[in-house]
Amino acid sequence: ATHEETLGFQTEVKQLLNLMINSLYSNREIFLRELISNAADACDKLRYAALDNDALYEGDSDLRIEIEHDASANTVTLRDNGIGMNREDVIANLGTIARSGTAEFMQQLTGEQQKDAKLIGQFGVGFYSGFIVADEVTVRTRKAGTSAQEGVEWRSRGEGEFSVADIERDKHGTEIILHLKDDAKEFADEYRLQGLVRKYSDHIEVPVRMPKIETAKDDDGNEIEGSEVTTWETINEATALWVRPKSEVSDDEYKAFYKHVAHDFSDPLTWSHNKVEGKLEYTSLLYVPGRAPFDMFERDGARGVKLYVQRVFIMDDAEQFLPLYLRFIKGVLDTRDLSLNVSREILQQDPKVEKIKGALTKRALDMLKKLSKDDEQYKTFWSTFGSVLKEGPGEDPANREKIGELLRFASTHTDTAAQEQSLAGYIERMKEGQQKIYYVVADSFNAAKNSPHLEIFRKKGIEVLLLSDRIDEWLMTHLTEFDGKTFADVAKGELDLGDVENEEEKKAQEETAKAKEELVKRVKEALGDGVQEVKITHRLTDSPACVVLPEHEMGYQMRRIMEAAGQ
Ligand code: ADP
Ligand code: MG
Repeated sequence: ATHEETLGFQTEVKQLLNLMINSLYSNREIFLRELISNAADACDKLRYAALDNDALYEGDSDLRIEIEHDASANTVTLRDNGIGMNREDVIANLGTIARSGTAEFMQQLTGEQQKDAKLIGQFGVGFYSGFIVADEVTVRTRKAGTSAQEGVEWRSRGEGEFSVADIERDKHGTEIILHLKDDAKEFADEYRLQGLVRKYSDHIEVPVRMPKIETAKDDDGNEIEGSEVTTWETINEATALWVRPKSEVSDDEYKAFYKHVAHDFSDPLTWSHNKVEGKLEYTSLLYVPGRAPFDMFERDGARGVKLYVQRVFIMDDAEQFLPLYLRFIKGVLDTRDLSLNVSREILQQDPKVEKIKGALTKRALDMLKKLSKDDEQYKTFWSTFGSVLKEGPGEDPANREKIGELLRFASTHTDTAAQEQSLAGYIERMKEGQQKIYYVVADSFNAAKNSPHLEIFRKKGIEVLLLSDRIDEWLMTHLTEFDGKTFADVAKGELDLGDVENEEEKKAQEETAKAKEELVKRVKEALGDGVQEVKITHRLTDSPACVVLPEHEMGYQMRRIMEAAGQ
């Protein structure tokens, strides 16, 4: 080995390693799933790169993953003939966490939080999970298409530093050797490894093979020395999961596949698998994750589906196939309608992409609708992704009604902060003669709940939605109608309770207004330019006065957002 250097892990990698080793001890077998998942990705990438340049296969286009073990040396070795890595790739991929925002996120964690196993799901565990079972990891790799002299060896004990050296390596692809910790020797076992491959990696399209060593025996039944013959046995199903008929795929297989495509550690909430033939031809498998990634609100966070064209992997995070407000959806799209050499630029122009996007959006909304029938699951969904879904009516007016069905709000019906009321439920509870869906927007739930504008509504038993998420005001400028009912902000414009008020009340109000004209005049003079108008109101029952915005005025929250944006 030449040109050897020792480098330090990025601080966040050290933190992640600690977090992982502490929190995943009882679940440590997942290291194999992660390493196989990476090997399969590497094979996918080589197949894609070879579409343009066959020579990258270096005469070996039979993509595969091999697993070997050595019980006496306590090692497990994983090998793939995928894309491989050069020195730069190795340092970048196996020394840092590339995803933007990870560093800041990690820094915010307190010591207590770092011990929390749940956190790990926000990152995905990946390559570093090898260190849950190994006290030393060696990676030997070469990028397809480079010369034998350009191999690289990476070594680390997972304690803060790693070394990289140039080596000669005649095959492209990557080999990872785990030197097992004393308490993880159980993994250097044929049956254990086979079981794990079937449990976690059955759905991987690339064959995962293990060696069977057979020795010839002489007439007395003794093994003949030097007669060992190795045959390779494929352990997994090795067909792309989404190609298989739904009826033949178990829930566990769907869940395992999710972890591979989404690079997530936890189970999905639900999924939807569809094969479409006809004008458009595609298969989609979409998932709703059970947990939000830490970068969900970052503009450049990963989103979109994994795109395949006729089973050939094309790209990760193809964001053109789902709208932004469904950016939490993960999964696979495999289509015959695009060409194999499609690029991100082409995707932006191809009209078929728009059509598939429309179809996938419907699928995703239908999947959420189905999920909403399960109260417990939908609560989890809503508390995780609800505020993202609220971007929907603004971004996708064509699906406004469908999105409206999925929205949940806090309201005066229960007066609790939990967002659990659907618009359909609200409409069912509407008072006779009530025509509008009333809502109030404030900075916090308590401010909304205690708004003086609610007094008259409470008195009359009319339900009001209590909105206090940052996105709510934006949502309400786009959600103007649902199921034929319009929305009304109780803090804006004239108070119109529709036919809920009776004639007598109206008459009494008019009389009061007349009687107080003098008072109104005096108040107006006192307030001067501070107000546009002073009016007698019937919205209040306890408070003496309140501020009301004209109907078409921007709300308080919007004003603040605009001000913050320097407008
Ligand atoms: P992720 O798979 O989510 O990207 P990982 O920690 O699992 O994160 O892997 C980090 C990166 O290391 C991968 O994105 C890939 O670029 C590289 N890598 C890991 N294993 C392999 C492999 N067997 N062949 C080629 N590249 C690999
Ligand atoms: Mg990975």
